[in-house]
Amino acid sequence: KSWHASGVTLEIQLVPFGSNQKLLISRDISQMEKLETMRRDFIANVSHELRTPLTVVGGFLETLIDMEGAVPESTRTYFAMMQEQTGRMRRLIEDLLTLSQLENSLASPQESEIELDTLMNMLLHEGISLSHGKHDITIESIEPGLYLKGTAEELHSAFSNLVSNAVRYTPEHGKIQLKLYTRGTEVLFSVQDTGIGIGVEHIDRLTERFYRVDRSRSRETGGTGLGLSIVKHILTRHQGRLVITSEIGKGSTFTAAFPQSRLVRRPTEANTH
Ligand code: ADP
Repeated sequence: KSWHASGVTLEIQLVPFGSNQKLLISRDISQMEKLETMRRDFIANVSHELRTPLTVVGGFLETLIDMEGAVPESTRTYFAMMQEQTGRMRRLIEDLLTLSQLENSLASPQESEIELDTLMNMLLHEGISLSHGKHDITIESIEPGLYLKGTAEELHSAFSNLVSNAVRYTPEHGKIQLKLYTRGTEVLFSVQDTGIGIGVEHIDRLTERFYRVDRSRSRETGGTGLGLSIVKHILTRHQGRLVITSEIGKGSTFTAAFPQSRLVRRPTEANTH
């Protein structure tokens, strides 16, 4: 537990001591918190400041590439490579900004009820478009008329991160299945792939910022190394958790699990008849 008062934050812990006693440990973490806030603000400011010049550079590069005769054919590929790299930097900055916005605000803004059928179909089409038809992508949903209470933009971003990872880490002709189901007290959205898989020693660390099993593969496929930490933050804000199971060479399943208290059932044409 932590305790705040007049600019001071104390972390309080009660630990067993001896056979029937308890020890109260109190630690002043105000300085640590202050440094953490400074770090977050710094990242947010740097990302914000980098965004504008990068947009300008990207814009001029695009104009040069499109301008007939402006760039000799022999150097055109270099310009295209520069443009690709500015794109990568832009994605990185966008992800850093998203992450710092998530870290800086405690609660999810503007919660509404998100229709899960529509969301699943949207994710399916995004997956197909990312995969360029190279994977077999399917959806399986328990019933129509299900809604999840949450922030639409955030949940969409978390789920599409999982879909895009499945596409990026699954070789051609692999299978990807998006599933929505309930189990016990939870409602679950899972993305299962028959991709490269992940060694068990990496699983606990995947949601750390910039943690990547294979740096070059992540870079090749346009990764920033921030996707899963964004996913984890979003799920936590929705009282959800991320469960990862995987086997090298066989594939992975990433499951977002939310308490059923977030689920709303509404009658639809299909389930009232
Ligand atoms: P990245 O942008 O590198 O993909 P993420 O945070 O989304 O960053 O994922 C972190 C790492 O987790 C990836 O670099 C990759 O090694 C691993 N990973 C994520 N999703 C999958 C998947 N579906 N199959 C195999 N490995 C995955």
